[in-house]
Amino acid sequence: DIEVPESHPRYLSLLTRHRIEAGVEKGITSMQGLIAEGRGEAFDYLLGERTLDSADAAERAAAAHLLLARHPVISVNGNVAALCPGELVELAEATGADLEVNLFNRTDERVRAIADHLREHGAEAVKGLTADARIPGLDHERAKVDADGIYDADVVLVPLEDGDRAEALGAMGKTELVVDLNPLSRSPQVAAVPIVDNVLRAIPNVTAHARDLADAEREELAAIVEAFDREAALADAERAIRTGGDRADGG
Ligand code: ATP
Ligand code: MG
Repeated sequence: DIEVPESHPRYLSLLTRHRIEAGVEKGITSMQGLIAEGRGEAFDYLLGERTLDSADAAERAAAAHLLLARHPVISVNGNVAALCPGELVELAEATGADLEVNLFNRTDERVRAIADHLREHGAEAVKGLTADARIPGLDHERAKVDADGIYDADVVLVPLEDGDRAEALGAMGKTELVVDLNPLSRSPQVAAVPIVDNVLRAIPNVTAHARDLADAEREELAAIVEAFDREAALADAERAIRTGGDRADGG
């Protein structure tokens, strides 16, 4: 959907900008989302626009968590809906998770537009429109979730969640899997599994791990969850940003 050859060294970055812009035009991404995208892009540049081995380990641990969960839910905001709608649908299918639209700057119009967008990309059921439960400790609009969705979930994948809500979901006892390119942001800091990677790479890779683990025994999945070290993953991402050395294009 973009006139840039895939061989272009900044292909992914240009594709991302284009999709976010189109998301704003389509009414699924907010103006705040544009700013969040800029922050993400800067961190991705510093990380070398690649998936670190530590991020791959986090993505495998996230897959194991989703497969072990009683009720896994994938939270969808305007940025991830614009960036990788089909990939979110595939991950939901591979793990049996619900998809729930969950917005920081919530309007019913935007929730509906995102739900429609996900359905256009193959989603069957999309939650988030009922909004009949509240996350304790947040102001009214930011607290809205579905009673049979995020409110009931034991494991929630929150790509690009804001810090306040990540903390509030954690306080409800939910296991949070967070995708965020900034390892110092509060959301990955409070996550059980911080995935410091671009959602465009992270979501398909969690799906690939989930497919690989589809027939695994619960014991094996539990061992993967147990072996994952969140502090080490955050520290490795920070190290990669500070040293920046191994960029494919030399920076
Ligand atoms: P807080 O401390 O409250 O989390 P913040 O400045 O991080 O404050 P957010 O709303 O969480 O505010 O910002 C959006 C986050 O999403 C940023 O950390 C940014 O790096 C990250 N981000 C943006 N685009 C992507 C992307 N494509 N993939 C992964 N992470 C992204
Ligand atoms: Mg953040």
